[in-house]
Amino acid sequence: MAVTKSSPPEQVRSFWPRYRNRSLFLIICMQIIATLVVSCALLLFHLGQPDNPYFWVTILAFAAASLGVNVLLFSQLADPLKELSNALTHSAGEPSDTAPPSPNAKRFEQNGLKPLLQRIYELGTRDESPADNKLAKKAELVLSGLDSSTTGFVILDNQRKILYANAAAPVITTPSGERALELIFDDSYNLTTWLDQSDDSVRSNYQWTRIPNKIPGEEGRKLYDISASYEKGSIAETVVTFFDRTKEYQPEDEDLDFIAFAAHELRGPVTVIRGYLDVISDELAGQLDDEQKELVSRLIVSANRLSSYINNILNASRYDRRHLKIHLQEDTLAGVYATIADDMQLRAGSQGRILSVDIPKDLPSVAADRASLSEVFGNLIDNAIKYSNEGGVVRVTARQDGDFVEVSVEDHGIGMPGNVVSNLFHKFYRSHRSRETVAGTGIGLYISKAIIESHGGGMRVRSVEGQGSTFSFTVPTYASVADKLTQTHNSNENLISQGSGWIKNHSMFRG
Ligand code: ADP
Repeated sequence: MAVTKSSPPEQVRSFWPRYRNRSLFLIICMQIIATLVVSCALLLFHLGQPDNPYFWVTILAFAAASLGVNVLLFSQLADPLKELSNALTHSAGEPSDTAPPSPNAKRFEQNGLKPLLQRIYELGTRDESPADNKLAKKAELVLSGLDSSTTGFVILDNQRKILYANAAAPVITTPSGERALELIFDDSYNLTTWLDQSDDSVRSNYQWTRIPNKIPGEEGRKLYDISASYEKGSIAETVVTFFDRTKEYQPEDEDLDFIAFAAHELRGPVTVIRGYLDVISDELAGQLDDEQKELVSRLIVSANRLSSYINNILNASRYDRRHLKIHLQEDTLAGVYATIADDMQLRAGSQGRILSVDIPKDLPSVAADRASLSEVFGNLIDNAIKYSNEGGVVRVTARQDGDFVEVSVEDHGIGMPGNVVSNLFHKFYRSHRSRETVAGTGIGLYISKAIIESHGGGMRVRSVEGQGSTFSFTVPTYASVADKLTQTHNSNENLISQGSGWIKNHSMFRG
């Protein structure tokens, strides 16, 4: 492809020599013409003889004298023009052999050129072109618009330092004077993890919902939906936008406070009801006919479910306050499951599902809080029953995976589309479909994940809409965490890898 080069702009310094030469040329031409005309006129009127040498000497002397006078006159009259063009040459930054004319020189004061020279130098020192000016005005407009926006806006550089944050962004100044984002992620996949992964890609986007900046009860607590985008090499490499959704989410949190209080009060009577139902089923079994036995077993299923809802709600509010500290003991998953096995079979049977459980007894022991872990088993099996069809099989299996033991709960029920899966572990999340068809609270998975993470494990899900789902969780083998537990008298403190915190450059600091 041919490359055309535009001619360079004409230089200011070339103006004066050109103008001077042209003017002198014109003066000389005029002088020659005038001399010829005068000579012809004198000869015509016989005021001179062509063969007289004095005549020609006089004519030439006259011509030379008037040429000198004209050149002198020109240099006087054109001198300001020469000085102005000299000043413009310097002001434009062009190379020049002459010194720039000083406006303070006396002669410029006398001939009135001083203000003109001053103005030329003034214009030359202004570094903003009209285009720059326009851009600066636009930038000012955008920045003031962003500052009055209720949407938070933050730009991070490739070192993850805050380059820009508007007024609505949740930014704090750390004790060392740096600016940092103030966010508490309850999800293991936080901004830092996403940025770590994004480093390997060219472009990336991610969204989080319901992310608070402070723990419940703290002043100035806000809840954000966050959207982040990353573009490698861009001057604004990471852009994070914060939509303040406090108004929508806060009432739910307050509801949870109230529900937690109510649940706490309900727990006592429900425990008593379950106890009496156990007595009826154990001691009066011989005196009941089949129909009565069926009724009692249904009552037991419902009372147990009510009891696990209550536990979920209490745990959810405890988790929100970062109080999910538990004590872990050496235990086997088969042992944990055994405590709820009958209840689970009863629930499955009453709903017409087949529950098949295969947890090998010889799996390595794990570090577990029995009550909490059995709640996770209960939640996952309960969901597998709820979201599958009559006659469906729910399969529970367990296997060792390095330093972890993994449990999977598989069903062949309704399954979920991708957009549901990505929101599953959020508090109160329920898919549209289940909201319309199945009773529930939307906090079972949220709290299950919190329990598993407080054991130092993780949760994942595979699901195909219309074909079924498999929820899996891992917990560390006791041998792999025994040392850490001994240091903290069996508390899970050293095992919790996620939790509250704020992001400062590369690191996630726990609050
Ligand atoms: P709940 O079951 O009380 O609604 P959960 O937190 O246990 O609350 O579950 C959240 C949502 O996840 C459910 O509403 C449902 O949409 C979906 N879900 C959970 N488990 C399954 C499953 N096994 N199959 C299909 N969808 C499920």
